[in-house]
Amino acid sequence: MKKISDRSNALLVFLGILLVGLLLFFGIFFVKGEEWIVFPGNPYTYSGSQLSQGTVVDRAGTVLMDNSDGRSYAEDALVRKATLHLLGDRDGYITAPLLTEYASELAGFDPVNGVYRFQSVQTSAKLTISANVQVAALEALGNYRGTIGVYNYRTGEILCAVSTPTYDPDQVPDIAGDTSGRYDGVYVNRFFNATFTPGSIFKLVTAAAALENLEDVAERQFTCQGEETIDGGKLICNDTHGVLDFQTALAKSCNIAFGQLAMELGGETLNQYVKRYDLTQSLEIDGITTAAGQFDVLGKEDLEIAWAGVGQSTDLINPCSFLRFVGIIAGGGEAAEPFLVSSVGTKSKEIYRAKTQSTGRVMGEETAKTLQEMMANNVKTVYGQGNFGTLSVCAKSGTAEVGGESLPNATFAGFVQDEEYPLAFVIVVQDAGSGSQVCTQMAASVLRACTAALDAEKDS
Ligand SMILES: [Zn+2]
Repeated sequence: MKKISDRSNALLVFLGILLVGLLLFFGIFFVKGEEWIVFPGNPYTYSGSQLSQGTVVDRAGTVLMDNSDGRSYAEDALVRKATLHLLGDRDGYITAPLLTEYASELAGFDPVNGVYRFQSVQTSAKLTISANVQVAALEALGNYRGTIGVYNYRTGEILCAVSTPTYDPDQVPDIAGDTSGRYDGVYVNRFFNATFTPGSIFKLVTAAAALENLEDVAERQFTCQGEETIDGGKLICNDTHGVLDFQTALAKSCNIAFGQLAMELGGETLNQYVKRYDLTQSLEIDGITTAAGQFDVLGKEDLEIAWAGVGQSTDLINPCSFLRFVGIIAGGGEAAEPFLVSSVGTKSKEIYRAKTQSTGRVMGEETAKTLQEMMANNVKTVYGQGNFGTLSVCAKSGTAEVGGESLPNATFAGFVQDEEYPLAFVIVVQDAGSGSQVCTQMAASVLRACTAALDAEKDS
């Protein structure tokens, strides 16, 4: 008898070990299964370094990418070119962090059934961009290198994020062999991953700091004689403006007025405002880390602070960060944080849905209101309301000197003041010239495409 009970005891011990092992395995499997599936070495989810699962559609449902049988891009060549920097190329020169971010949702992995791909269920990621708007922005930029971004400052949806130069991933040109320069920096997403000298659009930051720190600024008179000697060097204006008030100084983009304000505010205060608006901070947007900017004024001489306050000196700003900043002005001192992926799911099951998140109140309501009025005045007196039809556009242009033999970068940023179309925009065009001359028509045509896209959604 003793032998039998010894044996059954031993069996029980083995059974126990087996059970513990099984529990441990399933435990780890449930917790880690998703990680294993989206591990970039997994051949079922990835081909090369690029995600090979699911489809990606725009806000209207237009297919931008289909990975069900190899990787295929949009049917329309212009859509392919206009969305390349968001979706990545086949060779992995242009990465698509947003696809990696949602890899497990797109792979449709669940611990009980495994990967959807083997269940013939198609998972789809819906982006906030509009293919039509992307194409309008691509056409507006023409042969220029640059970027156009538009987002809804109430919801956070990015409707447009185009970067040029670009190319058709189905007709890859000979980029390495090109000597014309037309593909310079072609692999860089200029909207998310580059920084630029902002030029005079930065005067909005100096204006915000002045409104909140210099009580009488709205009543002041400035005198511009075209240049001013500071610290033995020169602050130079684009014109000789004579006597002008604060609002007119912004409309005419007077460097003397804004240089004086910057010096009076001082490097420390200006630096605080740049930080408060996260203008040099990287943003995290659906797996994308935006390029950090630069604002280097602490401990600097007055002349450097004056140049920094008008968006020159060593100032560098990422276009997406600036778009968020004009959204804050438009939103009355707070805005929605920008995002790019609105939902991920199958026909029957939603796996992920974006939520609107606020920047929080980072600007006084009165300050935002005054800036809105001043930017509306810029359009009325300088850029021309006629360019925008019935849309109430508020804007500020910039012409950023970059040195060397290049023409200035043309910059333009603003928003539509209309609850039906709460759109903020930013445009940077390299080696182009005057911001207002180069960018006004670009902004007008892209905003028209945006309102058409939003109207179509209302009708459907
Ligand atoms: Zn001036």
